[in-house]
Amino acid sequence: MPKTDFDVCIIGGGIVGLATAYQLCQTYPKLRIGILEKEAAVAQHQTGHNSGVIHSGLYYKPGSLKARLCTRGRRALTAFARAYDIPHEICGKIVVATDPKELPRLAQLYERGQANEIEGLEKITGARITELEPYFHGIEGLSVPCTGIIDFVKVAQTLARLVQEANPENQVLCSRQVTGFERHDFSMALRTQQGPVKSLYVINCSGLQSDRIASLDGIATSTCIVPFRGEYYDLTPEAASKVKNLVYPVPDPKFPFLGVHFTRTIDGLIDCGPNAVFAFKREGYSKTAFSFRDTFEALAFPGTLRLFAKNIKYGLDEYARSMSKALFLKQLQRLMPSLESTDIIPGKIGIRAQAVSRNGTPVDDFKIETRPRTIHVLNAPSPAATACLAIGEHLCQLAGEQFEL
Ligand SMILES: Cc1cc2nc3c(=O)[nH]c(=O)nc-3n(C[C@H](O)[C@H](O)[C@H](O)COP(=O)(O)OP(=O)(O)OC[C@H]3O[C@@H](n4cnc5c(N)ncnc54)[C@H](O)[C@@H]3O)c2cc1C
Repeated sequence: MPKTDFDVCIIGGGIVGLATAYQLCQTYPKLRIGILEKEAAVAQHQTGHNSGVIHSGLYYKPGSLKARLCTRGRRALTAFARAYDIPHEICGKIVVATDPKELPRLAQLYERGQANEIEGLEKITGARITELEPYFHGIEGLSVPCTGIIDFVKVAQTLARLVQEANPENQVLCSRQVTGFERHDFSMALRTQQGPVKSLYVINCSGLQSDRIASLDGIATSTCIVPFRGEYYDLTPEAASKVKNLVYPVPDPKFPFLGVHFTRTIDGLIDCGPNAVFAFKREGYSKTAFSFRDTFEALAFPGTLRLFAKNIKYGLDEYARSMSKALFLKQLQRLMPSLESTDIIPGKIGIRAQAVSRNGTPVDDFKIETRPRTIHVLNAPSPAATACLAIGEHLCQLAGEQFEL
């Protein structure tokens, strides 16, 4: 057995990497687990810039990894939050149809929810919508009482603490960017600026960088991460009382995103958003953030231009809404007609890592690929934060088989 720093090394200290490390140390307490995170602290990217919603599992194709892992992960996450005193609340949400054209899609969503065994899912009338959320108007809707809100950064920090407490040899190493892989006969060496980190096995959970890390390991992936910026407005403190819980539109199944929604966050804000515009920098959080490498690579991938070509009107509308508060407001007013421009102020920004295939189709499900000694998570968009513990369990099982742990 070669001398290594760790038995399993995880690249990425986001919620997926941390939950995977946690599940590995629950199942294999003797493993020495390392987490290499390039930022100075965990949860600095998608995990720290999201809507903070514990998703029910309503939207996903029955039988898909997303459907199975979201429902299981939601239950595990809620139990975890209760056990470790993490701020969360199962407050429920409603999905609101505002146009008769949306009713067939709402009916399909209800059927999906039933197939995915979403507890308490109920069809509701327009009158009931206004009873639950007095400022909203819709013709029909769904009530999803098992949806909740949570502080995902606290979840990530708690997972990091538990992993380190589980075994004195486990380490969460921040400011350790992985820049390359070396394969040895019986181990791997990960290049970092502080020198190589040796491990028997490696799991790549690097979110927005996952395709690049996979290609460093020689995986010729058929997909590329296309970053989509999600911009939010917040309701002003005076307007915040207009929203009690969470209100979503009926999503358009052509797109992988849920449409701008109203979310009460665990720290008491009301977020409105996010939209979805192509981001010119994978980890750039301002509207003007630009990286030549990120933009060039995304546009050089044939799937990106095909995706844009197929959805040109949607893309241009999203850009217009990104530039114009009035247009963003108009979209929010579909759900809450009385909302005024003075009720909203610019809020946070997040960047989603969405894998897109060469033919321009966004990859719908979670995507994982393996090589000898390595596992790569190549698509873990929403609801991966909700599903993190179940994804971790799934990866732990896969690691058990692949790595013969
Ligand atoms: C706007 C937005 C709203 C969302 N809303 C929700 C929601 O309400 N509910 C929900 O369940 N999900 C939501 N999601 C999705 C969810 O946030 C993500 O699916 C989840 O956080 C993915 O976690 P991750 O660990 O894979 O990625 P990340 O959190 O991005 O973590 C990846 C980590 O890898 C590190 N890394 C990258 N490259 C390297 C390297 N070379 N070396 C070392 N470290 C590296 C990064 O620094 C980062 O910390 C949302 C996402 C966004 C962006």
